[in-house]
Amino acid sequence: MARYGKLLRIDLHSASWMVEPISKRDERKFLGGKGLGTAYLVRELAAGTDPLGPGNKMILAAGPLTGTSAPGSSRFEIVTKSPLTGIYLDCNSGGHFGQELKATGFDMVILEGVSPAPVIVSIRNDSVTFLDASGVWGKNIYETENEVRRMVGDPEARVLSIGPAGENLVKFASLSNDYSRNAARGGGGAVLGSKKVKAIAVRGTRDIPVVNLRAFQETVERAKQIIFNNPWVPDQRRYGTPRAAGPVNENGLMPVDNFRSGKASSVEAINANAFEALTFKRLSCGECPVACSKGYRKNEVRLEGPEYETIALFGPNMGLFDPECIAEINYWCNQYGIDTITAGSLIGAVLETGVVGIPGNTPKHEIVKDTLHAITFRQGTGDILAEGPRIAGRELGIEYFVPEIKGMGFPGYDPRCSHGTALAYMTADRGACHLRAWPLGRELGGTWEEDDLDGRIMFVKEQQDEKAAQESTIVCQFPYGIGLLDPVLAELISLSTGEEWTLDTMKEAGERTWNLARVFNVREGITRGDDYLPGKFSQDGIESGPLKGKVISRGDQDYMLDTYYAYRGWTADGIPTGETLKRLEIEEET
Ligand code: SF4
Repeated sequence: MARYGKLLRIDLHSASWMVEPISKRDERKFLGGKGLGTAYLVRELAAGTDPLGPGNKMILAAGPLTGTSAPGSSRFEIVTKSPLTGIYLDCNSGGHFGQELKATGFDMVILEGVSPAPVIVSIRNDSVTFLDASGVWGKNIYETENEVRRMVGDPEARVLSIGPAGENLVKFASLSNDYSRNAARGGGGAVLGSKKVKAIAVRGTRDIPVVNLRAFQETVERAKQIIFNNPWVPDQRRYGTPRAAGPVNENGLMPVDNFRSGKASSVEAINANAFEALTFKRLSCGECPVACSKGYRKNEVRLEGPEYETIALFGPNMGLFDPECIAEINYWCNQYGIDTITAGSLIGAVLETGVVGIPGNTPKHEIVKDTLHAITFRQGTGDILAEGPRIAGRELGIEYFVPEIKGMGFPGYDPRCSHGTALAYMTADRGACHLRAWPLGRELGGTWEEDDLDGRIMFVKEQQDEKAAQESTIVCQFPYGIGLLDPVLAELISLSTGEEWTLDTMKEAGERTWNLARVFNVREGITRGDDYLPGKFSQDGIESGPLKGKVISRGDQDYMLDTYYAYRGWTADGIPTGETLKRLEIEEET
């Protein structure tokens, strides 16, 4: 049924594990991945749980399509409480780890407690072993991954690991798999570090039980045709996400000099063509016909990427326009296990404000690398920066200049560029995030009249629900068009599970999940007051470029929140009403 209907619960303190069933009811209500992980997090975490204490849990979840031949289905989700924001966190990552995780025979793994000593958790089908990690504690990601594979004695094992940043509880430490694929945002790496888990190795040899195999395979072929017919796909395949750099800059949305200006004089040196010229090999996540990943290699610097966000935030955002320098910075983020987005937006702010100075003729990219090192090993000011944008901003007295919402650093698009983008950042369940709704393309394409805020608001709400369903399925956002659910996905889920899914029931599962995440956040103290842009973005206009002078006024933010909450069936304070929870059949979860 493309589901095994069971989860593996691992107690790190006692180095023991047990297998539990996942109810059919939960599968139907929450679909998988993000949805199921969110339901378990809400049920099992008491309000106020210390994200870095033994009470937090790290949930790894596959979806009903993970491990099948459905296009773009290799991803897995992590769900936990974030040490960066103190609220809900989920991330997903591509590569090949997700497929291997599913092939162990579990739909979900829950890690609980804290290991008494550094440990590697090795899951091979339905057996779990705990290996001494003292020999790899302190090592960077690439070396860790190679060493863990050697230690488990299986070159085909896939490894999820943390680097020194996760060990040192840097609040925006990432989780890494397949060397440079990352579940990067929100500090999942620090959660694993707090549990003294250096790595999780998985090796599965089970077949994924697809119910209606023949019809499923035919539908997979149709899904591929839909993808190949999507006019958006060829450029994604050729250039990957760096394709965004040129248009973003031309339209004045680029973060330049810590989100002061929206347009750099030129991004030719770091645009799609520049990075294509530096690509030595096209790479791909498992089961993906798009293959948008770019292999970069120069001397010791080897990685998949850089992706657009990294280019924007470590590029124009801090006045760097050398692609090789950006690739090298990306490499060190990967090796230390650090989220490039939060690191880039935070370092942009400390460079602008002079908190980190640039002595003499020292090249700026060397200063950036030194700062990453200081953050990773908590040296000097780096120890403060390691606490993340909100705490560092306050402690260093530069709060006004640090772009963050709910403690999460800004992605690589200035939210003043569009009301829809601003609302998407303001209301994202894990803090400032561009991946929960993507109205920007439509705004630039003229989908809505200038004064049609309601159209934008409804779109953000609808797409958040669709994306939650996509991340529960789980498929990559790119092959089917950014954030769009294609009806073929419902067919694929139905044929693989034997359950009846439609686009509408998928969206309903997504909406249920979105509301549950909000319930979690409200329980942790989130209110309407946390859903606004930082003051700078309603007060200081973009300094130059086509959108010069643009702000998102506080009045417009109020209107957007009022309307958004009403669409969602939330109170004026942003709390899901009892009626909404009842309609979504989740009142008993709260
Ligand atoms: S589109 Fe790109 S990121 Fe998405 S699954 Fe395919 S290769 Fe991976």
